[in-house]
Amino acid sequence: MAGAVAELSASAPHAEARLAAAVQALEMASVAELRTLAESADRTERLAAELGRTDLVMRARLVRAEAFMRQGDLTASGRIARDVSAWAAEHDRAYVLARSHLVLSRFRRHLGDPSDALGHAVQCLALTGHEVPAGIRARHLSHLAVTLCESGSLDEASRRYREAFTVATAIGDFELSLRLLNNLAYTASKNNDGEEVQTLVGEMRAFAARHGVPLEAAYLDTIARIEVTRGRYAEAEATLRPVLDSAAEGPPVDSHTLAESLLTVAEAQRLRGDVAAAQLTLDRAVVVCEEYEIASARARVRGEQAQLYAATGRYREAYEEHRRFHAETQALQSAQREARARTLQAVFETDEARQESVRFREMAQRDSLTGLYNRRFVDEHLALLLEQAAERATPLSAALIDLDHFKRINDTLSHATGDAVLKQVAAFLADTATDSAVAARLGGEEFLLLLPDTGIDEAVRRCERLRLAIAGHPWHPVTGNLQVTVSVGVTTIGDGNSTPSALLARADHNLYAAKRMGRNRVVADPLG
Ligand code: GH3
Ligand code: MG
Ligand code: MG
Repeated sequence: MAGAVAELSASAPHAEARLAAAVQALEMASVAELRTLAESADRTERLAAELGRTDLVMRARLVRAEAFMRQGDLTASGRIARDVSAWAAEHDRAYVLARSHLVLSRFRRHLGDPSDALGHAVQCLALTGHEVPAGIRARHLSHLAVTLCESGSLDEASRRYREAFTVATAIGDFELSLRLLNNLAYTASKNNDGEEVQTLVGEMRAFAARHGVPLEAAYLDTIARIEVTRGRYAEAEATLRPVLDSAAEGPPVDSHTLAESLLTVAEAQRLRGDVAAAQLTLDRAVVVCEEYEIASARARVRGEQAQLYAATGRYREAYEEHRRFHAETQALQSAQREARARTLQAVFETDEARQESVRFREMAQRDSLTGLYNRRFVDEHLALLLEQAAERATPLSAALIDLDHFKRINDTLSHATGDAVLKQVAAFLADTATDSAVAARLGGEEFLLLLPDTGIDEAVRRCERLRLAIAGHPWHPVTGNLQVTVSVGVTTIGDGNSTPSALLARADHNLYAAKRMGRNRVVADPLG
């Protein structure tokens, strides 16, 4: 590709069309290639400027921003993305804006800010119109999936990866397809879905063989790590053997992946009881980490070393190694936090930029169908509400609301009708959630109300009102003869002394009782 760019010139025939094609090829490049593409991006940008194509200038700049990110210059990449984004918004260029959100999202991700990364990824995809080439669309989808996975929305992530996979295979982009299978396997293993993981690992191997795409080291490491969690230690070692062997013969395995692979193999060897082999592998990992100054892997090597000492009964050394592991991890984290604060300040020093980031954070906390808060927000917010309730010794009530026989509406009418019902129910919930109360959609047809400073009697009263409002709503124009009702499980913690999961489990228990007792009712904690 670099060669094609070098041949471009402003006076050649069809210069603009060829330039546009070159920019798009740069946009399709993998993250690994970007390191070597900075120069091409630079040249393309100058040519675009010569031809007066500001949109292509901006797009080439974004490619440069990604190259900066790869080289570790986050401030430079963040500034470019911020400026291009402002230009695109001002000139109403949806595609350029989408690309700038993609880079902003990657920037946030590198800073360790998954909520903001997700907000930008959502914007990126929302701005990716149907005229956008399939290969780009698949990449935008894939990136959204990455940020969903990192924010803990594993099912949503898988759904996007699958969608992207369908697109990628349809256009014959097998490298991307394989990367998507790898990410699907990783997501499934994070989701503890053993069966799915096994299927996906098989699919990866078969796909690679069928299309003649080699399984690169990082993918083999994913597979091996999965094998370790499934107790298949010898298989894990065998999977990574080619990586370790080819690294011994010289590059091209990159040092980060090699360090990770060595860690995986050392763990597999320790777990299958071969401590001597594990020690040799770890020693090799130390050399790689120190030679290439990979601090994060170095700390994890200490963690593994501590476990290895413990496995051989050397408890004192295990203890000391563990302390060093802990100290290094802490130091790394605080260095990261400081670097993050500095970068953010350098990139977004204005109030306006801060407001933007607040807006994106807010967006990442909302459910897209109903506009209510989503599960991610609840996960972050509920612990805080419990803390406040404990501090002030005030009650906190939670109500789980689940639609009754909702499947019938979908099945007999349509999914769109189901969605319309969900939106209307959400509106009732929003009305119920006055003051500091929070209304959220946890997923599917299940909702949550959090009522701070509200005791059991008041909570039940409000839920009853909500239930009656829903049951009494004139649904006929929407659902015909099908009734829409909800069952509600309410629980109250008197003094905030509980955990989010315990609170939700109690509400769920009461919801289950409401369903069992015939639905369309509110069940609260038993008295006493
Ligand atoms: P129950 O009274 O026991 O709660 O029965 P139910 O049919 O409401 O419960 P079930 O959990 O069996 O079915 C829930 C259905 O909700 C399944 C799925 O089709 C539907 N659903 C989940 N998410 C959405 C969505 O976003 N939109 C629509 N239209 N339907 C959804
Ligand atoms: Mg239901
Ligand atoms: Mg349900």
